[in-house]
Amino acid sequence: MKQLQSVSILGSTGSIGVNTLSVIAQNSDRYRVFALTANSNVKQLEKQCREYLPDYAVMYDTTAAKQLASELSDTNITVLSGIQGLEYIASHDETDCVMAAIVGGIGLAPTFAAVKAGKRVLLANKEALVMAGHLFMDSVRQHNAMLLPIDSEHNAMFQCLPVNQKAQFSNDSGNGFSKIVLTGSGGPFLDTGKEMLASVTPDQACAHPNWEMGRKISVDSATMVNKALELIEACFLFGLDESLIEIIIHPQSIIHSMVYYRDGSVLAQMGNPDMRTPISYGLAWPNRISVGVEELDLAAISSLDFLRPDLERFPCLRLGRKVAATGDSAPIIFNAANEIAVAAFLAGNLRFDQIPAIIDGTLQKQAVCGVSTLEEVLEEDRKARKLASGLL
Ligand code: NAD
Ligand code: MG
Repeated sequence: MKQLQSVSILGSTGSIGVNTLSVIAQNSDRYRVFALTANSNVKQLEKQCREYLPDYAVMYDTTAAKQLASELSDTNITVLSGIQGLEYIASHDETDCVMAAIVGGIGLAPTFAAVKAGKRVLLANKEALVMAGHLFMDSVRQHNAMLLPIDSEHNAMFQCLPVNQKAQFSNDSGNGFSKIVLTGSGGPFLDTGKEMLASVTPDQACAHPNWEMGRKISVDSATMVNKALELIEACFLFGLDESLIEIIIHPQSIIHSMVYYRDGSVLAQMGNPDMRTPISYGLAWPNRISVGVEELDLAAISSLDFLRPDLERFPCLRLGRKVAATGDSAPIIFNAANEIAVAAFLAGNLRFDQIPAIIDGTLQKQAVCGVSTLEEVLEEDRKARKLASGLL
């Protein structure tokens, strides 16, 4: 009999978490849920627990954890709380695979714990890699973890690389690689004039044309900070200089990214915009499983468009590229300032078109330095959050 893979989901109540559970439910002969986790949504986590019967449930919030434990007192599910609880299930002996789908820098420590325990880590939480890229990749190698990118673009790049390269390759490995083209939809404001960007609301910013996602990443898509984070993410994942990665706008989100080779070949991964494709590929790699994704009908789509990004209306792209080239703690500062700015925008305390200025201002105020431990990363992150909050 085939052994079931035990999966722990960091952030099971979010958009990626829910899609992951849908993939697992359709493949219950291969996967079982070992642990489910969330920030504070007791109702939703309880519902998921009753449906998937994990061994553990973790709530980051301690009060919520107490409430969940009392709701689940008629079950055998153990309820834990806090970062320690998240790290515990992520590195547990009985966890084979960890889906890292917490949003933001708060996901770094538990994801890192999974890497250090040598797990198969499915990485959706791009902020964690952006903050601690070198440490993260070194740790993957040192602890023999398996890192599979879930971000659709990086999953596409991974699929277009030779299988034996795993998530690692560099320009001098003799495989004929020449560059990567990272595609982006352009977000909800692709055609919105610069003056209009001053008055857009959080709900307008979160109405993404092709993807249904959490609110933070939806705002990131609208400012194109998301593409900047993805540029940095790709540099770390594949050991590449930012100059080898081009960003191109492709409004239909059918081609999820492309790899160019020296001989003129271009490999592109295509599919309907549905996160169950990259999630299932991460879970089953090197195999493929059925997940109910609608078949791509190119004749119905009829045409695919491509254009160069507008750096005037989307200045965060320019900032992101500079940050990628600078390296060291610059990505930490960029990410932290953005998280503060986005939270302020979502709370109605900052205009949409002021987000780039908060990021730029924080980058100008905080000196870039080398970071060689997780503690140093978290310290630079704290400093940047404080500076950015001061600029609001
Ligand atoms: P979401 O807001 O829908 O869900 C976030 C999850 O994180 C929730 O389960 C929430 O409970 C949990 N969480 C938040 N704060 C927490 C805390 N302090 N402690 C513990 N858990 C906490 O977000 P999402 O859209 O699912 O995105 C998750 C991650 O995946 C993000 O890093 C995002 O950039 C990345 N990602 C998402 C998509 C997508 O299609 N949604 C695509 C690519 C990458
Ligand atoms: Mg993406």
